[in-house]
Amino acid sequence: MYEDRSPDIKLCCEDCGGHLHKHGRYMRSVATKHETVQIPIYRQYCPACGKTVSLLPDFLVPWARFVTWVREAAIARRQKGFSWRQTAESTTVSAVRYSRRTLKRWWKRHLLRAAPAALWVAGQLVSSGFEGDLLRIYPAKIAPLPADTLRWLEKLLSVYSPVGAWRRGYWAFLNTLLPKAARL
Ligand SMILES: [Zn+2]
Repeated sequence: MYEDRSPDIKLCCEDCGGHLHKHGRYMRSVATKHETVQIPIYRQYCPACGKTVSLLPDFLVPWARFVTWVREAAIARRQKGFSWRQTAESTTVSAVRYSRRTLKRWWKRHLLRAAPAALWVAGQLVSSGFEGDLLRIYPAKIAPLPADTLRWLEKLLSVYSPVGAWRRGYWAFLNTLLPKAARL
């Protein structure tokens, strides 16, 4: 969408509140299920603070080479008990395959972030007047394991987002709303 045209987004500096100025772009490689592509990442600059920020699209997080829906699909399969090989082969073609170590890293990160993300979604549901019992759908009340929190997050997301509305998965949508420390 933004190949040669900077997105028309007006931002203020997080530190001083001043207006940011457009500040060029850089190219970054992004892996999807089928290929690695180069996309432009536009930047903005605060003349007062000398700080530069990058405008990431919703389907990327700063550290990850893969688009968010590939990571989400991988975690979903891992959760169902797929092996690394089954997970990797069903979510990427061989030209862009991720390593076993990468999948482990994604899994570890997800275990850490599932709880704050789930609590955030639960909070949103409560403040929007959701009437159901959110704790009742928590899978294990006694001695819960991290995997139970993952299942809780899954259930909360299916309540929070209309079924089928997000062809690119839940995470890319959710990450535009979640606080930084809970982004998936
Ligand atoms: Zn500033």
